[in-house]
Amino acid sequence: MIADLHSHTTASDGSLTPLELLERARDQGVEMLAITDHDTLDGYFVARQAEFPRPQLIAGVELSCVWAKTAIHIVGLHVDPANETLLRGLERQQQARARRAQLIAEKLERRGFSGAYEGASLAAGGGQIGRPHFAAFLLQQGYVKSNAEAFKKYLGAGKVGDVKSVWPPMAEVIQWILDSGGVPVLAHPLHYKMTATRLRTLIAAFKQQGGLALEVLSGHQAADRTRLLQDLCDQFELHSSGGSDFHRPGQPWCELGTGSTLPDDCRPVWALWKKQTDRGC
Ligand code: AMP
Ligand code: MN
Ligand code: MN
Ligand code: MN
Repeated sequence: MIADLHSHTTASDGSLTPLELLERARDQGVEMLAITDHDTLDGYFVARQAEFPRPQLIAGVELSCVWAKTAIHIVGLHVDPANETLLRGLERQQQARARRAQLIAEKLERRGFSGAYEGASLAAGGGQIGRPHFAAFLLQQGYVKSNAEAFKKYLGAGKVGDVKSVWPPMAEVIQWILDSGGVPVLAHPLHYKMTATRLRTLIAAFKQQGGLALEVLSGHQAADRTRLLQDLCDQFELHSSGGSDFHRPGQPWCELGTGSTLPDDCRPVWALWKKQTDRGC
């Protein structure tokens, strides 16, 4: 099964429209695709109208939250996109994101980067504003030479634009996903740059709060990292998920379909939902 259970569209910080994403996934041979935009189902709502025969489309979302003062991403898979609790939660996330965009802009303006809000807003093109849009603004104005530099200097963890006070606790977003009948997945566990002990504490909290799966694959990664994550799944009795975290073409390490070969001995996340296509529901 070529399943890609983590991807983004123009509804958040991806560069392809939902339809372009579906076409590209099909062309890459993806059989099951979850659109998991940051804090919104809008991309999924557009894609499900397309009635593509392949890939099978899974309703998903990547929720921003906080655990022990660290910003964490929880992917919800196979959620019911009509569920009231989830939709109310997403409404709150979007308000938080809008408030955060103002706060980030104020901080950047104080550093002398005037027009930050308008610049990021323009880069978001009507979708919701995220840190990558501030990075695009800084790059476009020549304040930095690359996207990576924008994160390293101004937007990454611990930098001036890293505003996470607006996000709800992890337990809350896990509950929204569970209420909607979806599967809460801890996204890219190795991206948080935690010590092994702290990561285990995070996974224990995630499990205790109702979490059901870990992303053992996130784009292209070394085999020993996959093994490490699969061992954690086994120890904590969690299911395994994986996806490219695709944002845009031209990044071969996170092309659609990359990171789709789960370990043979794992319990794949899709075993948690029935073998059904959720397009149209
Ligand atoms: P936000 O959801 O607005 O907090 O933005 C987070 C997004 O920024 C992630 O999903 C990535 O797409 C992007 N991102 C985070 N860290 C980096 C980084 N160091 N370099 C490039 N992009 C990053
Ligand atoms: Mn992103
Ligand atoms: Mn993420
Ligand atoms: Mn993502």
